[in-house]
Amino acid sequence: MDVLLAWILEHILAIIAMIVTLVLLFHYFIEKEYTTRLSKKYRTSIFETQSRIFLNATQYLISGNRDLAIKEFLNAMDLNRETIETYFALGGLFRSNGEIEKAVSIHRSLMAKDNISDLTRLRALKELAIDFDKGGFIDKAIETYKDVLKIGRDQPDVILALCRIFEDIEDWDEAYSYRLMLSKVANQNQSETISHLLVQKAKQLFENTNYAESMEVLDDAFKFAPSVSAKILRLKLYLVVGNIEDAKTLLLEVLRERPMYTSFIFLSLSEGLSEKESEKSRELYLLRLKSIKALFLSMQDKDLDNSPSVILSKIRLLKDEKMLSDAYDTIREWMKNSKVSNEVLKIEYVKLLIEMGREQEALKEVVPLLDSMHHSFTRHYCSQCGYNSDNIFWRCPQCREWETIQFRWKI
Ligand SMILES: [Zn+2]
Repeated sequence: MDVLLAWILEHILAIIAMIVTLVLLFHYFIEKEYTTRLSKKYRTSIFETQSRIFLNATQYLISGNRDLAIKEFLNAMDLNRETIETYFALGGLFRSNGEIEKAVSIHRSLMAKDNISDLTRLRALKELAIDFDKGGFIDKAIETYKDVLKIGRDQPDVILALCRIFEDIEDWDEAYSYRLMLSKVANQNQSETISHLLVQKAKQLFENTNYAESMEVLDDAFKFAPSVSAKILRLKLYLVVGNIEDAKTLLLEVLRERPMYTSFIFLSLSEGLSEKESEKSRELYLLRLKSIKALFLSMQDKDLDNSPSVILSKIRLLKDEKMLSDAYDTIREWMKNSKVSNEVLKIEYVKLLIEMGREQEALKEVVPLLDSMHHSFTRHYCSQCGYNSDNIFWRCPQCREWETIQFRWKI
């Protein structure tokens, strides 16, 4: 089977040449039967010319010169609807076969033809853009997609392709403007995604210690959608400028809204400031972060304490501070009150017991725990495509959807 497939791929052009020839022959005989307008002699001469060109093309194929072969084929084309379709199919085949140059050459030749409709020309231009895109020629792809849009803006697939490219190369300004265009043209709400794009831009500014501008861009992000990523960055900015009160209020708001995100929130906050920032500012930031953590640990909120994510975060923060007995009390309290069992919290409990030197108790917990374990764990996964990662991703690297991230328990 593999051998056959390899053979087909190797001889794909020859096979298609055969098919095209058969199509032409078919047309020839159909026309021969039904057309009376052209004289028999004239029709015969057209057929002979086409046959000769195909013969040339086949010779080029045999001598391995595929480019000239393609050129000959295109010359041979009496471009009616069927043959144009054949060429689009051929171009697509080359592209999916990774032979980008040949796909490009077919689509370019098609565009250069005089006797095709504007619609066909536009379609060839679009295909050309996709060739560049798939071939990784980013600049050419961008330029060609933009050319397509110059002809007509009402093409959501092309706009979406541009969005994807600019998001890939992290050009957030361009990505932003094309998302805006997409929301108008496709009449689809893009607010959530646009908010994420602006947060990414604000993050770039944040990393460059340009905090005032970062805050401005973030404000724009909030106008589109108050995404969690926007709130976390705003929280960081509050800590940078020393606005502790607002930071506390915002933290409570995010925790109540999305308790699942608790451990991630503290993970992001703990990343601290960029290396470009002065030693002194970075220390100051960590000091302010500490007071926020203290607030979180002192919170007695019944709703929040029902969430395993909140408890886990508390335990980890307490362990970081070497407050082991407080961590122990917190976990015992949760285990006593909670109706659902949680493997990660139990593992955390075992680790804590060992750290406290209570090995005998730890041992007793381990065996039933091992029996109940049947999952493999990564911290996050994509609800859309199932992509797994320990890193946080607002945009899935696999299916490239925004905010499809789901949280899982990590041991
Ligand atoms: Zn995905």
